[in-house]
Amino acid sequence: MKLDPVLLEILVCPACKSSLDVDNDNDELICTGCGLIYPVRDDIPVMLVDEARRASAGEPSGAPEDAAADGPSGGVDAPPDGVDRDGSPEGTGDVDSERTS
Ligand SMILES: [Zn+2]
Repeated sequence: MKLDPVLLEILVCPACKSSLDVDNDNDELICTGCGLIYPVRDDIPVMLVDEARRASAGEPSGAPEDAAADGPSGGVDAPPDGVDRDGSPEGTGDVDSERTS
C-alpha cells in the first residue's frame, strides 16, 4: 500500500476528527481517537463511517477474522445457520416416483 504522506496529513477521522494510523499489513487506516478502522481500496482511503469497521474490544494486534461480528457491511456475509441443506429426510426424492411402476 502506498499512501501519499501529504494526504495522510490532512486526513482525519470523519467521526471524531482524530488523526489516523496506517496499518500497512491490512491496508487500513485506524483512527487514534475512536478506533474506527477505515479500508483502503486501490491506495485510496475510504473515509466513510459507513464503510469503517470497529475493532472489537480487547483485540490482539491485527486479528481481522471476526470482522463480521456485528458489521453488516462486511461483504463476506456467511449464510445463517438456519439453512441446512443436509436436513432433508431420505425417501422423498424424485427418483422414487419414477421407479414406482
Ligand atoms: Zn475516530
